[in-house]
Amino acid sequence: MSSTNEIRRSFLEFFAGEGHRVVPSAPLVPYNDPTLMFVNAGMVPFKNVFTGLEAPASPTAASSQKCVRAGGKHNDLDNVGYTARHHTFFEMLGNFSFGDYFKEQAIHHAWTLLTKEWGIDPHRLTATVYHTDDEAFDLWRKISGLPEERIIRIATKDNFWAMGDEGPCGPCSEIFYDHGEHIPGGPPGSPDEDGDRFVEIWNLVFMQFEQAAGEIVADLPRPSIDTGMGLERIAAVMQGVHDNYETDTFKALIAASKSLTGKSVDTEAEVSHRVIADHLRSTSFLLADGVLPASEGRGYVLRRIMRRAMRHAHLLGAREPLMHRLVPALVAEMGQAYPELGRAQPLIEETLEREETQFRRTLANGLRLLDEATATLDSGASLDGETAFKLYDTYGFPYDLTEDALRPRGIGVDRAGFDEAMARQKAAARAAWKGSGQAADGELWFDLVEREGGSEFTGYSSTEGEGRV
Ligand code: ATP
Ligand code: MG
Ligand code: MG
Ligand code: MG
Repeated sequence: MSSTNEIRRSFLEFFAGEGHRVVPSAPLVPYNDPTLMFVNAGMVPFKNVFTGLEAPASPTAASSQKCVRAGGKHNDLDNVGYTARHHTFFEMLGNFSFGDYFKEQAIHHAWTLLTKEWGIDPHRLTATVYHTDDEAFDLWRKISGLPEERIIRIATKDNFWAMGDEGPCGPCSEIFYDHGEHIPGGPPGSPDEDGDRFVEIWNLVFMQFEQAAGEIVADLPRPSIDTGMGLERIAAVMQGVHDNYETDTFKALIAASKSLTGKSVDTEAEVSHRVIADHLRSTSFLLADGVLPASEGRGYVLRRIMRRAMRHAHLLGAREPLMHRLVPALVAEMGQAYPELGRAQPLIEETLEREETQFRRTLANGLRLLDEATATLDSGASLDGETAFKLYDTYGFPYDLTEDALRPRGIGVDRAGFDEAMARQKAAARAAWKGSGQAADGELWFDLVEREGGSEFTGYSSTEGEGRV
C-alpha cells in the first residue's frame, strides 16, 4: 500500500521522468490574481503563462499544488463531512504543457501513470469527453482501449473549461474511478452521477481555443495542457478504500481527534471528526501562508472555517480548546512535504488556541439560543433571519455555522431575512455615527466596509478567475 506522501512523490517523479520541470506549490494566497480569494487549482500560479503574459520557465511543468475551495464559485465547504470526496483543503497534482505537447500525449501520460505505473485496474476507469470532441474520443479509444460505452460524451460545462470570458479555453476530459456496485451513485452524465460510486479522479483540460467576450474567436496557435488530480482521491483508490477520510493522512488526524475527545462511537460523531480533520488542514495551511483570522475578506473565511470546526469540537464534548492540540498530528503527517507547516507551528497553535478560547465564551450561549429558537421547528422549516443575525452579531456565529448546525435536523435558515437584518444594522450604525458629529472618517469607513463586502465576504463569485469549470 502506498502512503499519500509516496503517491505525491511518485506522481512528480513520473512526470520528471517525462521531462517535466517539477515546481513547488505556490502559497494559498494568489500573488498574481487579485480577483481570486485562494488558489483553487494547480493551474492558478501558471495563469499568466497560459494567457501569454509571461514566458514559461520551461515548456512543461508538474506540481502538487495546495488548494482551498471554501468560498466563491468553487465552494466545497458544505460538502465536507457529507461526501467521501470533498475537502476544503486538498492537494492538486498536475502536469502542464505550455504550447508543448497536446491531447494525445496528455491522455497517454495519464493512462500510463494510472494503469501501468500504478497498476490501477482499467476495468474500473471511465473517461468523459466534451460532446463535440471527436478527437479526444478517438484518442481515448486508441490509447486506452476502453470500450465506447466507457468514453462518455458530456454536453455540459463540466467538460468545457474557460478562464473567464476572455483568453484560452477548451474541452476537458475527466477520468472517473468506479468504487463498486455497493456504493450508491451512477456513471458520469447519468441522473445520479452526484453519488460517490464513480469518483472523478483526474481532470484533463485541452486549451485549444481563444475566447473574446464569451465567444470562441480563434484556434490557439500553440495549444496547451492543464491537468489536475486530487491527491486524496487517488490515495483512496490506491489504498483500497472508498472514502478519502479513510486514507492514511485522514485516519491519523481522525485518530488524534478521537483520542483527545474520547468520542468515537455514533455516526453523528463521525461527521464531526471528519469536519475537524478537514478544517484543521485548511486553517493550518492558511495560517502558514500568512492569512490571519479577521472580520472580513480572506481572514473571515479562515475564521468561519475555524469556528465551524470548533462547534464540532464542542459537540464532541470538548471542554477545553481542541484544535491547537491536533496540530502536531498534522505536522507529523504533512510537515515533510510542506516545511512551512513546521515553521509556522507555534503561530498556528497560538492562533487556534486564542480563537477557540475566545469563541467558546459565546458558543454555549449561542447554541442554547439556537435550540430555543428551533425547539418547535420540524424538518423542512427555516430559522428566522432575525435570530440567525443575532447569533452572528452577538454570539459570533458565522452564517454558515448556523446552517451547518441545523442541517442534521433538516432545518434551513432564512438567508434573505438574515441579509435584511444585517443591512438594517448597518444603516442604524451609519445613522448613529452621523449623529455623533464625527463626520468624514466615519463615512469613509462605512463606505469601505460596504465596498469590500462587509464582514460576510461574498464578493468573488461572478468574476472569479477559475481553475476549472
Ligand atoms: P467534483 O466534480 O468531484 O466536485 P471538480 O470537477 O469540481 O470535482 P476539478 O475542478 O476538475 O474538480 O479539480 C480537479 C481535481 O481536483 C478533481 O478531479 C478532483 O480529483 C480534485 N478535487 C476537486 N475538488 C476537490 C475537493 N473539494 N476536495 C478534494 N479533491 C478535489
Ligand atoms: Mg467540484
Ligand atoms: Mg467534476
Ligand atoms: Mg473536474
